[in-house]
Amino acid sequence: MSSDAGYENLKQENTALQAKVEALQHEIELLRKSFLPGENFYKDRFYRINENVNDVVYRFRFKERQYEYISPQVQKLFGYTPDDFYKNPAIIRHLIHPDSIKDYFFHWRNIIVGRIPEYFEMKIIRKNGEERWVLQKNLAIYNERKEIIAIEGIITDITERKITEQALIESEAQKKAILNNLPHLAWMKDLNGVYVSVNESFARRYKRSVEEIIGRTDYDLYPYDLAQQYRDGDLYVVVNKNQLQVEEKTDDTYWETIKAPIFDNSGVVIGVTGVALDVTEHKKKEETVKAFSEKLAVQNVKLKLINDELKLAKDKAEEADHLKTAFLANMSHEIRTPMNAILGFASLLRDRKISESKQVEFINLINSNCRQLLHIISDIIDISKIESDQISLFNKSFHVNRTIRSLKQNFENAIKQQNKDIDFQEVIELSDENDLIISDKARLEQVLSNLLSNAIKFTESGQVQFGYTCNSEKQEIVFFVSDTGIGISNEEQKIIFDRFRQVSSSYNKLYGGTGLGLSISKGLAKLMGGSIRLQSELNKGSTFYFTLPLKSGNVVKPEKIAFDTTYNWEGSTILIAEDEVANYTLLESIILPTKAKVLWVRNGVEAVDQCLTNANIDLVLMDIKMPDMNGLDATKQIRKKNNTLPIIAQTAFAMPQDEENCIAAGCDDYLSKPVQIDEILSKLNHYLRNKKSITQVPQKASH
Ligand code: ADP
Repeated sequence: MSSDAGYENLKQENTALQAKVEALQHEIELLRKSFLPGENFYKDRFYRINENVNDVVYRFRFKERQYEYISPQVQKLFGYTPDDFYKNPAIIRHLIHPDSIKDYFFHWRNIIVGRIPEYFEMKIIRKNGEERWVLQKNLAIYNERKEIIAIEGIITDITERKITEQALIESEAQKKAILNNLPHLAWMKDLNGVYVSVNESFARRYKRSVEEIIGRTDYDLYPYDLAQQYRDGDLYVVVNKNQLQVEEKTDDTYWETIKAPIFDNSGVVIGVTGVALDVTEHKKKEETVKAFSEKLAVQNVKLKLINDELKLAKDKAEEADHLKTAFLANMSHEIRTPMNAILGFASLLRDRKISESKQVEFINLINSNCRQLLHIISDIIDISKIESDQISLFNKSFHVNRTIRSLKQNFENAIKQQNKDIDFQEVIELSDENDLIISDKARLEQVLSNLLSNAIKFTESGQVQFGYTCNSEKQEIVFFVSDTGIGISNEEQKIIFDRFRQVSSSYNKLYGGTGLGLSISKGLAKLMGGSIRLQSELNKGSTFYFTLPLKSGNVVKPEKIAFDTTYNWEGSTILIAEDEVANYTLLESIILPTKAKVLWVRNGVEAVDQCLTNANIDLVLMDIKMPDMNGLDATKQIRKKNNTLPIIAQTAFAMPQDEENCIAAGCDDYLSKPVQIDEILSKLNHYLRNKKSITQVPQKASH
């Protein structure tokens, strides 16, 4: 056999074998198919199952563009029957909502090119126009050649879910909007302190974006100490499962922060949420209000003090008013008593024929009552002068021992007159050679007299001592008046130096007095640079101390001026200028026993005329208040022509200013009314002796 023949044989055998294989394959396929369920086996079951579910199930033959099957639920969903779909498969396109039509075609295009999306959502419009949302799931069915032969799918109505979802989205958006619009900083952190959410206020505050903060911790955002402080707060909230409210300050900002735990459904803490509010403005306002309140409180206290002061002032004014009324009543009594005696005895002297001895007695009584009256008037003038600060002192040197002795003599008489059983003693410390002090003698006498008359007044029997001691250490001279009388209670000691004050009205009645003496004494003591105080015990007695400063030089050498009480001015002529007859008569009666010649004029014009024409006049006693021309003007007129004639003013104007006015007008000296006889005589003697060196005879003037 040739090779060609061999090849041809092989080829035929091969073809025969191939035919056999194909036949076998066909037989196998037939056999396999005979074991498989029939074509409608699955279909029938599948359709039956689908009829019982709510979703729409379909099978769409891809090539034919025909629904092979669509479940009856389609009517419920779309409003069209399966038949409507079988007849017009394109009906579906008209049911897609315009919002979803783009997506729908996009998905179909993908299906055509073999990119089957697992599912997609779209909006449809039902036959009745109602809008609904559906979810379409598709499955492509391929043939052996990998060609799509059908699309099987399910359409589920998801409208309810979509509505819920939309609501959720909207509520989330609202929450976010609320949180972002809040002035509060709001945040959430997990258990590790990592920010999981913050609002825009928070981000703005730290000049970062929300995204930049989320995922970070406080340690990334703040200095270590501050971050640690925040972390401690978070841990407190986590551990205690409780809220934490703190007030914090960062830079110049005050924060009020509330932190709270976040729980999961099972109550386990999974993080911390917080809100912080910038309360700086509030704080500032609070501080302003606080400062204001404090100011108000201070103001209140001040007002209260003012109120108290006003109340005190009112009480004092009321008390002063009351005291004044009591004082006036008392004063009226004090003045009327001596007035009564004066007027009574004076009318007795005029109207009745009475013996000479009785006349003397009455005159003495009138005299002593007049002095009492004068004392009251002096007191009133003194207190008003002290209160209006009008008292001037006339400090001259004088012998303090003599003052004490003279007071002793005066008050010894008073004790005798009052028939009191009082042991009265004086105490002096300086020797008579060294007892000159410089002070206002009259005022010192006034204070001591006040104290002495009180001591005697308030001591029925017992002892009264007065005098002075020197405290060289303190450079003081301490006058004292002590008695063993009724004494003064501690309470009363506080008030008796106030004007018009007396211990009690019953004492007033018993003892009399105006309640001015101590007040005047205290005022004078102060004016003289000293002070007055007392020690007293009720029913045991009192000691008043009156201290004066004894500055070096206060004790001075004596200026020897000796006046005798007997005068003979024979040959001298004295002119009395006085408009009141009684006053002239008194002066004349005092002067005539000295054998001097007395001339009388009744006004200033006459006085000037006499002085300038009568060269015999040696001295003038010039009244100040006179008709036509007063004493001051008259003196001025005289002084224009005669500068040597002694002119002594005598006036009832008893203020210090009056003395100064007299001296300024040209008077040489001054005598205040009521005149003291001794004082007049010694003064006149002084000027007359200097003028004419008149011889004094040792003969007592019989006035
Ligand atoms: P007056 O004696 O005129 O009443 P004073 O001012 O001198 O006024 O005295 C005031 C009061 O002080 C007296 O009324 C008296 O109650 C009381 N007082 C003063 N001195 C004494 C004293 N030595 N002993 C007891 N009481 C006194």
